[in-house]
Amino acid sequence: MIGLGGNNGTTLCATILANRHNIAWGTKNGIQQPNYIGSMLRASTVRIGTDDSGKDVHVPVCDVLPMVHPNDLALGGWDISGLSMDKSMERAKVLDYDLQRQVKPHMALLPPPLPSVYYPDFIAANQEARADNLIPGEDKQAHLDHIRADIRKFKQDNDLDRVVVFWTANTERYSDIIPGINDTADALLRSIKESHAEVSPSTLFAVASILEGEPFVNGGPQNTFVPGCIELAERHKAFIGGDDLKSGQTKLKSVFAEFLVNAGIKPLSIASYNHLGNNDGYNLSSERQFKSKEISKSSVVDDMVDANRLLYKGPEIGPKGAALDKGEHPDHIVVIKYVPAVGDSKRAIDEYYSEIFCGGRSTINIFNECEDSLLATPLILDLAILAELLTRVQYRKGTEGGEFQPLYSVLSLLSYMLKAPLVKPGTEVVNALGRQRNALESFLKACVGLETNTDLLLDTRIW
Ligand code: NAD
Repeated sequence: MIGLGGNNGTTLCATILANRHNIAWGTKNGIQQPNYIGSMLRASTVRIGTDDSGKDVHVPVCDVLPMVHPNDLALGGWDISGLSMDKSMERAKVLDYDLQRQVKPHMALLPPPLPSVYYPDFIAANQEARADNLIPGEDKQAHLDHIRADIRKFKQDNDLDRVVVFWTANTERYSDIIPGINDTADALLRSIKESHAEVSPSTLFAVASILEGEPFVNGGPQNTFVPGCIELAERHKAFIGGDDLKSGQTKLKSVFAEFLVNAGIKPLSIASYNHLGNNDGYNLSSERQFKSKEISKSSVVDDMVDANRLLYKGPEIGPKGAALDKGEHPDHIVVIKYVPAVGDSKRAIDEYYSEIFCGGRSTINIFNECEDSLLATPLILDLAILAELLTRVQYRKGTEGGEFQPLYSVLSLLSYMLKAPLVKPGTEVVNALGRQRNALESFLKACVGLETNTDLLLDTRIW
């Protein structure tokens, strides 16, 4: 993980250790057992068919194909803050005191975060006080080589088959896409050599992972995958996935907006407010970093709206056949405020204001309060485990001979856990949660030769 000492990084490590060592802890409600609730792989099931009596048979998603168990992951990574992992967990203030107390000796045994790269222009100025654990120098090529060596060493020291590199560090500002600088793979590699200012830390980590042949997943909202980075992944047949963990408000939106539009109801506006008081919120209180989050949260309803031209007018087409605008869309705003008092317990308020039958109006308000890092952590696990699994899937076209090849570099099957899914350039983004889940389930089932999902259930509907 990049950002190992942050809220997500420490929560992930501590909860895996609690599970691995079977640590139960006291809360005001009694004894709490460790678990993996919130992990789609380990806490949800998939229907694989029916038994002889016609009853549905469900199995845990993680049993459909051989997958790594979270307890078996080797944990490590980088952080610009060199604080030890036990102290970083305390700083995060996410976990119950009694869990922290018991897991602390195990956390203290984890290696402290490795030094990382810090280019102050990319994250908020208010993060500077944390930056005490840095790879020296300003030479980005040397930084890249250093990170590549770290990945190799981690793999070797822990005797691993695969390293998944995961960005869960602070949200960066967007990188400008500049022709000749980051628009092609060669340009990007040259820009790293020349230490160009527009190469962000997250892009540098992605390039390091690609060159090491290890998958890289971006849990943050910034545009780590500049066009040159995607081209580089394609060239090396390496795997990338992103962007931004879809944990709370956006996950609900990708269900709720679909529900409304599919019901033939027309959302006119969606207004989303958040406030949170953790370090992520502190970083997002800076305008350029907030912008990255705003972009990743904004496109979530686009595909659902575009799919229904009965409710929304399509784009106006000019005389030469090109679209002159984006077509009709609901008004959609996203506001995020930093309120230190609420800590990691994020508040999200959403108003869905819709047109109903014959000019009527419907207003639905949703208020959600949830511990941010406890929503995000199981998603990181699912993404890492699925990314590893997908590196092992090979296919060939047709039934006769031919070479098996790996999947395409951009792992769009990870979309279910991501706010702004990265897909193969030129293909459509699917944001609707139900469709994303269906794609993943169908794919896993297809790998073992099971029928893809269907709710046709014809035999229950005919005589
Ligand atoms: P955090 O601020 O607690 O942790 C981020 C860590 O990254 C910090 O320890 C910081 O020192 C470190 N860091 C910053 N720049 C770095 C660099 N260049 N190299 C290495 N380390 C660096 O934040 P968090 O709550 O753990 O969230 C992490 C990321 O995940 C953010 O981008 C956030 O937007 C994203 N995210 C979080 C959630 C959630 O629910 N928690 C949901 C979606 C996305």
